[in-house]
Amino acid sequence: MRMASKFTKSLAIAVDVGGTNLRTAIIDGKGKIIAKNVVKTVRRGKSGQVVADQVIEEIRKLIGGEDAKKYKGIGVSIAGPIDYKKGASINPPNMNFKFVPMAEPLKKTFRLPVHLANDCNIGVLGEKYFGAGKKTENLVYITMSSGIGGGAIVNGNLLLGKDGSAAEVGHMIVDTEYNLLCSCGKGKGHWEAYASGNNIPKFFRAWAKKKRKKINFHYRKATDIFAAVRKKDKVTLEFMEELGRMNGRGLSNVIAAYDPELIIFGGAVMLNNGDLVLKYAKKYIDKFLRWPKLKVSSLGENAPLLGAAALIFGYPHSSS
Ligand SMILES: [Zn+2]
Repeated sequence: MRMASKFTKSLAIAVDVGGTNLRTAIIDGKGKIIAKNVVKTVRRGKSGQVVADQVIEEIRKLIGGEDAKKYKGIGVSIAGPIDYKKGASINPPNMNFKFVPMAEPLKKTFRLPVHLANDCNIGVLGEKYFGAGKKTENLVYITMSSGIGGGAIVNGNLLLGKDGSAAEVGHMIVDTEYNLLCSCGKGKGHWEAYASGNNIPKFFRAWAKKKRKKINFHYRKATDIFAAVRKKDKVTLEFMEELGRMNGRGLSNVIAAYDPELIIFGGAVMLNNGDLVLKYAKKYIDKFLRWPKLKVSSLGENAPLLGAAALIFGYPHSSS
């Protein structure tokens, strides 16, 4: 709880709606987190309205008895796709609801500007405002966790597209040899089908089968494979070349599409094993265009909240 202050106009209310946790925070223009709450996201109810109701309740708790009008606005990170006209998330993954309204209920309750973005675009905004991308006008953020997602700022502008899905780089095609089905269920050969945390073990097995390699079937998780690589296991070292080839193609596509100065990586795969992933990927990135700098994010677990605050301090582009 905070005491009322005349300085609160320089503060944003940030919300990170995840499938598991709902985080709310008060953040200042320098990225300092003044207050923060975390609860489990509601999973049951008649409709997605229950999520909006929970967010309202959490914001009320966060600001205590203060008049919400003292704040600059509410920024919300929510899994997409996003319907910007309705200010809602449509079929968010890992949530039980088909339609989660957000902008209208929050605006009605708090009478503040409300901006939404999906979690991938939030990632690039957080880096631009509070992370390694501060001085960069051309920046791509790629998260490699259970899936692969991305966000791009080109010439200082966040690219959104019709559904906020511009720069969904995980669904770029990087392969026509193994033809692995992507976790989106709609396409084969997508980058995510090879190099995301959930799919690296599947790709490993497909590769081993195709190349007739004897493999250790205890490798169930991506982290098992990276651990074997660090122990210089011969077969997994060979596999890293093939994974590097896929990542090299993905990154070559990203460089050709957005011509960034900097690519920042987040997500568990990169936060834990980014050194290995990049070491092999760099061997296979096309040399045609001038390379950007490649960096692993340093924002940590508060990155989505910082990105949501950046929506208020920097990019009033979505529903308001
Ligand atoms: Zn896909």
